Amino acid sequence: MESNKPKIWLSSPHMGDNEFKYVQEAFELNWIAPVGPHISRFEEELTKFSQNQPCVALSSGTAAIHLALILLGVSSDDYVICQSLTFAASANPIRYQGATPVFVDSEKETWNMSPEYLEEAINNCLKGEFLSAEGNKISGKAKLPKAIIPVHLYGMPANMPELKRIADQYGIPIIEDAAEALGSTLHSKHCGSWGEIGVFSFNGNKIITTSGGGALTSKNQDWVNKAKFLSTQAREDAPHYEHQTIGYNYRLSNVSAAIGIGQLEQLSNRINARRENFEFYKKIFKSFPQFSFLKEPEGYFSNRWLSTILIEGETDSKNREALRLALEKENIESRPIWKPMHMQPVFKEFPYVGENVSSDIFQNGLCLPSGSSLTLEEKERIESAINNILMLSH
Ligand SMILES: *Cc1c(COP(=O)(O)O)cnc(C)c1O
Repeated sequence: MESNKPKIWLSSPHMGDNEFKYVQEAFELNWIAPVGPHISRFEEELTKFSQNQPCVALSSGTAAIHLALILLGVSSDDYVICQSLTFAASANPIRYQGATPVFVDSEKETWNMSPEYLEEAINNCLKGEFLSAEGNKISGKAKLPKAIIPVHLYGMPANMPELKRIADQYGIPIIEDAAEALGSTLHSKHCGSWGEIGVFSFNGNKIITTSGGGALTSKNQDWVNKAKFLSTQAREDAPHYEHQTIGYNYRLSNVSAAIGIGQLEQLSNRINARRENFEFYKKIFKSFPQFSFLKEPEGYFSNRWLSTILIEGETDSKNREALRLALEKENIESRPIWKPMHMQPVFKEFPYVGENVSSDIFQNGLCLPSGSSLTLEEKERIESAINNILMLSH
């Protein structure tokens, strides 16, 4: 029987005290457009927050990745190396440019791009010889990949020092997909500021939201300026509409930016609440050794956007599903880990380098309700639901 209790979502938007005030201000000033004072202020605040790096506010994280690829000159005869275990938005823009994605498996320590497989993938590009995930031979041009896209999945930083060392050795720029990792740091340096270009998302389910939005950040102010230019239809400086380049309609709206200013004020609270969720789950599952959690390696700080759990040992995906379905019965939303790109029908013909690390995580992993606005009552409901399941199965 389905529960008639209110739904507990995986990750809900969580407004603070001032978002509505700033939106009202935008209305009063009549800046209801993808231009206005709140956009500049949001960008300033975001820059202040993340390592003082210039940034441009955009309509989505996907748009930011797309513009990053354009800035790096990625075109249809290029390879772009991309972490396989991620949301499709990391990889889709590679195809917008007509380029070939080369998917790379994860390391167990962070679930993010394995430095070892990255090096193998670069060598495959240099030979123009690959295998698909299903073992079919793929051959293409022998050339250096144009960019590398590691992801900080669920807020856990990727092994950036090692990935960067390898990328620098070959002179390949990194686009850091930090869509899930705003506020995460590695050796005190913010995620999004390690690579040549960093990308954030402010979609509705992310740690802070502008209802929909994103940002591109880089030490290179010229790139940030160019991204802004491209995001506003590449209008040249002229009284009429003059265009020398193909442009995009990728700028953030001023109303959304107003929400973002209020959300940024709350970011550290949101990180604390998400990290508390993680401790809450660790405690519940403590005496069940087949459930494991992703630890922060030395020097890593995760915003714990989503709390995830791995179900190992004698158990298999049925048990992951058993847990998910039992929670669903109580009207509690949980979700399998991202399905790796090399397993997706739309990408399965593209090169893949690695083994089964990401596919095992997909089979055995589950994202638990992780909203920063979870109430004590909701947590009690989650805890008793999980306890019932654990008791039934042991
Ligand atoms: C959310 C997300 C994106 C895309 O961001 P949008 O703002 O939704 O376009 C990209 N990569 C990852 C890993 C994400 O989780």
